[in-house]
Amino acid sequence: MEDILKRYFGHEEFRPTQREVIEKAIQGKDVLAVMPTGGGKSLCYQIPALKLPGLTIVISPLISLMKDQVDGLKVNGIPAEYINSSLSSLEALNIEMGIMNGEIKLLYIAPERLNSSSFMSLIRLSEISLIAVDEAHCISEWGHDFRPSYRELKSLRELFPDTPVMALTATATERVRDDIVSELGLKEPEIFVSSFDRKNLNLIVLYKKDSFDKIVDLLNEREGESAIIYCFSRKDVENIAKRLKEKGFSVLPYHAGLDGEVRRKNQELFIKDDVHIIVATIAFGMGIDKSNVRLIVHHTFPKTLEGYYQEIGRAGRDGLPSDCVLFYSSADMRKHEFFIDKIEDSDAKYMEHEKLKKVMNYCESSLCRRRHILRYFGEEYPHEKCNKCDICLGIKKTYTEQHVLDNKPISSFEKKTDYDMGLFIRLKILRRKLANDKNVPSYIIFSDVSLQEMASVLPTTRGEFLRIKGVGQHKLDDYGDLFIKEIKGFLGE
Ligand code: ADP
Ligand code: MG
Ligand code: ZN
Repeated sequence: MEDILKRYFGHEEFRPTQREVIEKAIQGKDVLAVMPTGGGKSLCYQIPALKLPGLTIVISPLISLMKDQVDGLKVNGIPAEYINSSLSSLEALNIEMGIMNGEIKLLYIAPERLNSSSFMSLIRLSEISLIAVDEAHCISEWGHDFRPSYRELKSLRELFPDTPVMALTATATERVRDDIVSELGLKEPEIFVSSFDRKNLNLIVLYKKDSFDKIVDLLNEREGESAIIYCFSRKDVENIAKRLKEKGFSVLPYHAGLDGEVRRKNQELFIKDDVHIIVATIAFGMGIDKSNVRLIVHHTFPKTLEGYYQEIGRAGRDGLPSDCVLFYSSADMRKHEFFIDKIEDSDAKYMEHEKLKKVMNYCESSLCRRRHILRYFGEEYPHEKCNKCDICLGIKKTYTEQHVLDNKPISSFEKKTDYDMGLFIRLKILRRKLANDKNVPSYIIFSDVSLQEMASVLPTTRGEFLRIKGVGQHKLDDYGDLFIKEIKGFLGE
């Protein structure tokens, strides 16, 4: 397993619970894996897919996610495809041929595909080794993204009663978990719940005053890095995006009021690093696996801590230090309350108010943010301090004191860099070019982690290059010489 991990993905070791989940799947057991956003769920089924003899079917709710994952697998030399409505019938036919010939190891589909009788007769003839259900909470009405079509999955289980099923989600509630197990018909499943701690995220709460100036400071300190700024309303989105643009930032808006084509375009420009900052309502982010988002700002604090944790989960998926800054004010609190009060169902209204109170407690508390939010998810943080939140770093005492202090804590979160910035930028440019040639996002070629390590270790031979994190055999063969040449050129100068 370690060998596959390095050879194909270039990683040295498994993250917590990845190994256990993979082992069970290879043994043919049904598994439910609960891991936080960015925790590394994809590898849990991708590695079994490579080890097992037949095809692994991956159910995924979004076309953009499928494409991203398949692009990422292909650059690692793994035969993966997706079938969805974005393909022409000829393209789909080619893939179906590949499946029949046993040439494809991973096939991504949306659950709706199971309603197609021609597709069903195709897979009935194939050897299916594993069925992976990503974002499995979509099957539950108690989750936040219920998708009725996920209910179709039960028929897949009935069709392949002996094929192991792996369900994956970042939603931790008991009710959703029970729903997944029963709706998918999992048989004596092994359930793994990994720690929800995302160690590389700095958690910062700021009093909302001069928030625009503070956002400008935050962005200036992260020039050229990717950031998402979440706002309450379309109006806020438009306003902040416009003001940032006037200041010369590379920024675009995203909200449900924009034309679908504009939204798609803006998202794509962001994913490809052609634009650095997206100002958005929370409609943005689902279906984005961009690994190098370094900053997530909540201009208005979120309504629930579940939502908050999911949104900040989009920061630092590559494991590098990333900042999550939340602006809090009692005026925004009243704004949320106003809308919750309009809910007619009294139970639902009560629930929403309770959840909002928990967010308020989080913001006003003087307890370590990490400890606080993990406790909310039922996990006890094992250390006294995390040293990666505003409380632990003593940046401010409490919310009320901050009224008076109104300090400027942001620069204390700057990271130490032990790589050569000039070379890093050169490697980024090379990466952009290769990504554009292939029409994939830059992070599919190499993550920032890989480039930073290159700019620190300065590999000049293929052997040295292979030892860089994220460099597997396939990427060594495809890109090794080009990057080594760039590094040698830099050293020569
Ligand atoms: P999730 O689906 O749980 O949100 P992903 O599967 O998209 O998370 O993985 C998030 C990031 O973590 C990806 O950039 C992936 O390459 C990286 N990753 C996953 N497993 C490992 C590992 N064992 N070592 C290093 N990086 C990993
Ligand atoms: Mg995922
Ligand atoms: Zn802390």
